[in-house]
Amino acid sequence: MSSSGGIEIPSRLPLLLTHEGVLLPGSTVRFSVNSPRNMQLVKHRLLTGTSLKSTIIGVIPDTKDPEYDTDLPSLHKIGTAGISVQVVGSNWPKPHYTLLITGLCRFRVSSVLKDRPFVFAEVEQLDKLEQYTSPSSPGVTGEDGELGELSQKFHQAAIQLLGMLDMSVPVVAKFRRLLDSLPKETLPDVVASMIRTSNKEKLQVLDAVTLEDRFKMALPMLTRQIEALKLLQKTRKFNPYNEKRVHKVFPRRQFNLDEENENEDEDGDDTTALERKIYGANMSEAALKVCIKELKRLKKMPQSMPEYALTRNYLDLMVELPWNKSSKDCLDIGSARTLLDNDHYAMDKLKRRVLEYLAVRQLKSSLKGPILCFVGPPGVGKTSVGRSIARTLGREFHRIALGGVCDQSDIRGHRRTYVGSMPGRIINGLKTVGVNNPVFLLDEVDKLAKSLQGDPAAALLEVLDPEQNHSFTDHYLNVAFDLSQVLFIATANTTATVPPALLDRMEVLQVPGYTQEEKMEIAHRHLIPKQLEEHGLTPQQLHIPQCTTQIVISRYTREAGVRSLERKIGTVCRAVAVKVAEGQNNSKGLIPECQAQQAAKEAPPEMPIVIDHAAIRDILGPPVFDMEVSERLTLPGVALGLAWTPLGGEIMFVEASRTEGEGHLTLTGQLGDVMKESAHLAISWLRASAKTYQLTNVVGASDPLEGTDIHLHFPAGAVTKDGPSAGVTIVTCLASLFSGRLVRSDVAMSGEITLRGLVLPVGGIKDKVLAAHRAGVKCLILPKRNEKDLEDLPANVRADLDFIMVSNLDQVLNSAFDGGFPGTASACPPPAVLSKL
Ligand code: ADP
Repeated sequence: MSSSGGIEIPSRLPLLLTHEGVLLPGSTVRFSVNSPRNMQLVKHRLLTGTSLKSTIIGVIPDTKDPEYDTDLPSLHKIGTAGISVQVVGSNWPKPHYTLLITGLCRFRVSSVLKDRPFVFAEVEQLDKLEQYTSPSSPGVTGEDGELGELSQKFHQAAIQLLGMLDMSVPVVAKFRRLLDSLPKETLPDVVASMIRTSNKEKLQVLDAVTLEDRFKMALPMLTRQIEALKLLQKTRKFNPYNEKRVHKVFPRRQFNLDEENENEDEDGDDTTALERKIYGANMSEAALKVCIKELKRLKKMPQSMPEYALTRNYLDLMVELPWNKSSKDCLDIGSARTLLDNDHYAMDKLKRRVLEYLAVRQLKSSLKGPILCFVGPPGVGKTSVGRSIARTLGREFHRIALGGVCDQSDIRGHRRTYVGSMPGRIINGLKTVGVNNPVFLLDEVDKLAKSLQGDPAAALLEVLDPEQNHSFTDHYLNVAFDLSQVLFIATANTTATVPPALLDRMEVLQVPGYTQEEKMEIAHRHLIPKQLEEHGLTPQQLHIPQCTTQIVISRYTREAGVRSLERKIGTVCRAVAVKVAEGQNNSKGLIPECQAQQAAKEAPPEMPIVIDHAAIRDILGPPVFDMEVSERLTLPGVALGLAWTPLGGEIMFVEASRTEGEGHLTLTGQLGDVMKESAHLAISWLRASAKTYQLTNVVGASDPLEGTDIHLHFPAGAVTKDGPSAGVTIVTCLASLFSGRLVRSDVAMSGEITLRGLVLPVGGIKDKVLAAHRAGVKCLILPKRNEKDLEDLPANVRADLDFIMVSNLDQVLNSAFDGGFPGTASACPPPAVLSKL
């Protein structure tokens, strides 16, 4: 394992497995590394190690060649220990490292110690590793016998080769220097790695452990190279203009020594094509200038330089960008209306506003103006309307998801000085669509995040500002690109978290959730036909009657939009697809003879397959939303409130219980501060009004909190809740608890309260009412000052519900309990009941 008097490599080495390229001692080779094991090795050894020792690794060919099979399958048994002199990382087009490794000496793998996260092996050093000082240092120089003769011959051949080469080429000069300075015994390795040899030949040299074998193996390669050069020179003399043909005789990279010149010869055509593309790309003057400069640099670079790929990628992107390429707008308001109507049911307000927007754009033939921003719960068709707008205009459509983007480079690109730099999503999108006037849908602008890497919202501002975006500069491109022809549309679930400066540029169009009836229409007009088509079915094969859709809507989904409804319909289609396919197979006789008779008896399913109640239960399982509201309101101390979330409105139960104690209030269910305050307000008001309403505590005292602990819980405990609108619900729930009376089972409510018992208006009325309607509530108690919001409601929802508009808590209590609440009826006039408007 040791070499007497020489330097030793560690006896345990991490191994870099290479599939192409063979490292020989004394040579320096560039390896591109992207397999998981090798990447781990680079990360854990080369990038984190600090000592010189940690930069020494074993490079071992990973070959499946049975010729080299050992008990370590696919690992070659002999490798070269090397020092990594450079590590460059990049993630374009995919993560990889480029390593520059100088070979030191051969080793043999004695045993593999572990193979994860990278291969680590016990090794035996094979070559001596001397600290060479002069060419006359110990070696084969002066030795007699066969070895001396061989080395002499080899040296002479190398000198002969040198004589045939052009000394002005740097690599040749380097070869000359090495030949003069290196001990002769290292020559086979060095020369074999410099002249043109195949990997297999290099592997043979690597395997030649004794010096004699090594000389014997490398000498014919050297002679072959000399012969080839002789032939080349002869041909040149014979026909000096026929160089191209000679290159064909000695294919690509025929001689590594003139690598520097190689690019021009080999890539001459390639760069010319690129140059032609640059001039043909119709780019701006500034961009053209930059491209020409970069192209000049590219021509001078050898291909193996990491920067070559970077520059090349940059130029490729520049020529691909649609600098001046646009699709023709074909806007006709009449057909746009038809198209929007055909694609989407309901959402009249939104469609009207979109048409107005398009009409103005057509008359002004300019795009300057506010950016439309569709705000609403998921699955209500925001993206889908964006797509329709692109279709009506005959433009390309591209969606840019902004959810979770927290780095402004995501929008504006990375500067090219960074390793793995790339353009931002805007420029990438333009490259994808290939025209400069697409419709870009900026999805989920409310989910933008901020981080140390800058504020992506600020970058978006520049993109969206019509005064600035004609010269948008992506950091990667570093030249201005005109975005003024792009039509931007944004979507969000809520405006609350959209950065104010961004919101200022946009015109917000609310897209509320759908009613049960609207969902039913959407399902039958759009979702079912779409899903049938996606699953290769026809209406003749599958029929979903309205009553079944009704069940899916009310018992299997509870959402503002129609996304999970669409998914459920998809599930039904898949189940039916299996049946239909089975039926087809049967009729084609694909089943074995013995089963054929039985199949005939069972007969293929009759078409169309009708999905009834039993079938839907069979396919989708038991209903998910089974518990009726009224079932939960069977105890005192439970009331039903309404909440607004970015995902739409929701019904929300409030539960209270009391035990003997010391007047503590416990609140659970992940409540925000405002909600906690509402709870305290409610208790204070009830304590103050206990006498009026004859409320008592556990032992009958008139202060409900005396000797009593109260626990208020808001189920769905994992969901954070906040806002003041639960005030009236908490009061009702506690009043029910203290009085022992049940809250009406068909009532839900929402409203902020004050200490004096007034009820103040709240937001999100439309979504809340729709949620209550979905859940089967019949009567709603809402603040009087929200009356105007009811006008937005679909007529059928208004017709189904009773609205009780209240301005104080007295009215709330009076309406929430059957037969009114003691102490209220005489005290105040009955609240207005807007029954079935
Ligand atoms: P969002 O972007 O609001 O989250 P999508 O646009 O992705 O929702 O809509 C989800 C699905 O519902 C799409 O397949 C869409 O076509 C369908 N959809 C939503 N609203 C309607 C509607 N009013 N008419 C027809 N299909 C609709």
